[in-house]
Amino acid sequence: MKTIIIGAGPAGVTVAETLRQYDQQADIVMLSSEPYPPYSPPAMVEYFATGRPVHLWKGNDFPQRMDVDYRQGVEVVRVEPQRRTVRLAGGGEESYDQLVIAAGGRLYAAGLEENRPGVYNFKSLSAAEELLGRVRRGEAHTALIVGAGFIGVEIALLLREMGLEVTQLVRSRVMRQMLDPETSEVVLGMLRDRGIQTRRGADADAVAFVGEPRAEAVKMRSGDVVSADLLVAATGLRPNIEFLEESGIEMAWGVVVDDHLRTNLPDIYAAGDVAETLDRLTGERYVHAIFPNAVAQATVVVHNLLGWDTAYEGADNMNSLKHLGLPLMAVGQMEGEELRVRKGGVLRKIYLQDDRIAGFRLTGDVSGAGIYRSLMNKRADVRPFKQRLLEPNFGMGFIEESARSALSLS
Ligand SMILES: Cc1cc2nc3c(=O)[nH]c(=O)nc-3n(C[C@H](O)[C@H](O)[C@H](O)COP(=O)(O)OP(=O)(O)OC[C@H]3O[C@@H](n4cnc5c(N)ncnc54)[C@H](O)[C@@H]3O)c2cc1C
Repeated sequence: MKTIIIGAGPAGVTVAETLRQYDQQADIVMLSSEPYPPYSPPAMVEYFATGRPVHLWKGNDFPQRMDVDYRQGVEVVRVEPQRRTVRLAGGGEESYDQLVIAAGGRLYAAGLEENRPGVYNFKSLSAAEELLGRVRRGEAHTALIVGAGFIGVEIALLLREMGLEVTQLVRSRVMRQMLDPETSEVVLGMLRDRGIQTRRGADADAVAFVGEPRAEAVKMRSGDVVSADLLVAATGLRPNIEFLEESGIEMAWGVVVDDHLRTNLPDIYAAGDVAETLDRLTGERYVHAIFPNAVAQATVVVHNLLGWDTAYEGADNMNSLKHLGLPLMAVGQMEGEELRVRKGGVLRKIYLQDDRIAGFRLTGDVSGAGIYRSLMNKRADVRPFKQRLLEPNFGMGFIEESARSALSLS
């Protein structure tokens, strides 16, 4: 049985590792458009900040260890399901029995032209290397980040740490999709304290890149033009699905999959940032583009490749900033009864629906996140200890007797 995996990020890598673990005979081919051995994008920030490639690489010997035919710098440009074949850039094709689409996504700047020369997409290591190469060579002293989602904020913090003058364009609020307005304000204050300039509001809306042949500035709705040595697109993430356009594979924002992560076509699966899956709590279809989801989905895909009939529990809606000293954790929904505590730079909120945790936002102090998440995923009734949830030592060494039983701990 020959399995082709498109992409060598966390999803593709986990498919290869898990499949090999269970099937020593499987013929596994991995095709990656990146000219590197497999790597993990979340580790890039730490890598560039510290110079230590800890957790970044799976190792140059990954293909040998996994007995995988790994082809780097090879881009799939078309999938032809009727012929069970993928076509490669520069000619050539490869046939498969089973296909896993793990092509991830890229960062973009909403409302602005994509793939504009001079605008960096920090999602790939090649783009990040090019961008930071300019910083190290002293060619760049200022940066403009278009967008203020989680990854945009992480990139802004990294570039500031590297000594650049950084401006961040914030359309309405920082991390609008994941944070409530009050928490957004606290985070905005933290960014400003670190010397990151932020521009927001309708008059800060970016309408076009300016400069030929390379973009060198962004034009605002107000008519202002903001220029910088580095322009970075980071409003949100767009799944890499263009190469699937004529394949007959159903797509919406990302590749649409069922609860077994199967596409609408036989023997074709999708996992990771490219896949639109169900949210664990709301049941809505969405691309929750985070590392743990990519890994969990890849594992489910392998079970189903092997015919084990495994359903996916649904994706977590979760984000955390752990690098660069800005403690922030955002999990689940922001609706329902709000429990809140604020002290200095610490703001901690838990949202309850029917006395069950639906989400939480922790800023300045992320302690207790693990137990809140477990209670949330178990849909535990927290009524007996609701008033104590935000107490400083909740879940740290001591766990309320009733919380223990809600989590079925002895
Ligand atoms: C700066 C940054 C920080 C992040 N921090 C965190 C964090 O702290 N925690 C967290 O959980 N998540 C974080 N993420 C998100 C996390 O990186 C992604 O959720 C994860 O990488 C998804 O894995 P994936 O394998 O689905 O996709 P990707 O990692 O995007 O890998 C997809 C691969 O497919 C390849 N590919 C695409 N199209 C083709 C094609 N046509 N042919 C061949 N190959 C192709 C790409 O080159 C890429 O290597 C961060 C992301 C970035 C960019």
